[in-house]
Amino acid sequence: MALIVQKYGGTSVANPERIRNVARRVARYKALGHQVVVVVSAMSGETNRLLALAREVMPDPDPRELDTMVSTGEQVTIALTAMALMDMGVRAKSYTGAQVRILTDDAFTKARILNINENNIRKDLDDGFVVVVAGFQGVDEHGNITTLGRGGSDTTGVALAAALKADECQIYTDVDGVYTTDPRIVPEARRLDTITFEEMLELASQGSKVLQIRAVEFAGKYQVKLRVLSSFEEEGDGTLITFEEENMEQPIISGIAFNRDEAKVTVLGVPDRPGIAYQILGPIADANIDVDMIIQNTGADGTTDFTFTVHKNELGKALAILRDKVQNHIGAREITGDDKIAKVSVVGVGMRSHVGIASEMFRTLAEEGINIQMISTSEIKISVVVDEKYMELAVRVLHKAFELEQA
Ligand code: ASP
Ligand code: MG
Repeated sequence: MALIVQKYGGTSVANPERIRNVARRVARYKALGHQVVVVVSAMSGETNRLLALAREVMPDPDPRELDTMVSTGEQVTIALTAMALMDMGVRAKSYTGAQVRILTDDAFTKARILNINENNIRKDLDDGFVVVVAGFQGVDEHGNITTLGRGGSDTTGVALAAALKADECQIYTDVDGVYTTDPRIVPEARRLDTITFEEMLELASQGSKVLQIRAVEFAGKYQVKLRVLSSFEEEGDGTLITFEEENMEQPIISGIAFNRDEAKVTVLGVPDRPGIAYQILGPIADANIDVDMIIQNTGADGTTDFTFTVHKNELGKALAILRDKVQNHIGAREITGDDKIAKVSVVGVGMRSHVGIASEMFRTLAEEGINIQMISTSEIKISVVVDEKYMELAVRVLHKAFELEQA
């Protein structure tokens, strides 16, 4: 007998038929003798609908009231799921976040979980119930309802699994696992049986949006065994997210990630002297703009160019800050911006013990005539910035070059 937490996303509970489908799967696990805790999201589209409704009444909605409101999406699905189970003869009981007492801080709309009281759940499980818990929500120490940020039900699932020391946390979604890259770009992309937490974080943060990043971090920290599976398929083991040391036969490269959300900012003709990087990026940080890649060359003639990337939505703001506050101050020649770029990354923990990955990557891109504008590396990742119109080509040729289509 195992204790399993199963989290079902919005598409998996989108209508009564799908909810019954979820209940059937839960009932099967229960019949095998397992204890099951189910975490559900709101029906797909419901959270967006509620947010839009709030904005019609108050353009910039009060965060406390917003959380009181959007948390109702999940309150509907927990009760429906419990009812579907009961209708199949399975004893079930639903809990809101507050009823469990998923204690969070009071940062409405982006609260963090501080503590979970798992006693009631454990008692219900021991009494033979399936426990259905609302994802995405908690309660602060004063009893205010809070929510955990978009996609937060993943975090609820992982946090409950950690608190209950569950044997496995299964995340059911509309894809059947984590792929070597997006199958819409590379039809030969392959589902990975396993991937390490670190790789998953790289793939998730780069736009392979299977799991909320915070949930992956949480699972890594608390050593929760996490598995991503499809709720639309009866069979299949999905992708298990593992710890590196558990996985002896690690492939060198696990996947190709990409991101079209960044834009490039270049400060041309900056003096090559101490303090310049700080004078450029200080005001950017003060404006709460996140910077991802940064490059700066050494200048032979005493000046150099300084380039970095920000989210596309913040390009205008970043350019305005640099032109207003920085350009004259440091004596730079020009400030330019380009949002027609994309980042493509090769990810794999096996890179740690292999040389030559970067040169293989650059050779592959060169053979296609794709110009590399920026490069950054970490122990398990090499990223390049290229012209947006070559992104899909880059992903395809790299997927092939690293033989990711073969098992
Ligand atoms: N319903 C919430 C959202 O749409 C939480 C979730 O689905 O994970 O973001
Ligand atoms: Mg989700």
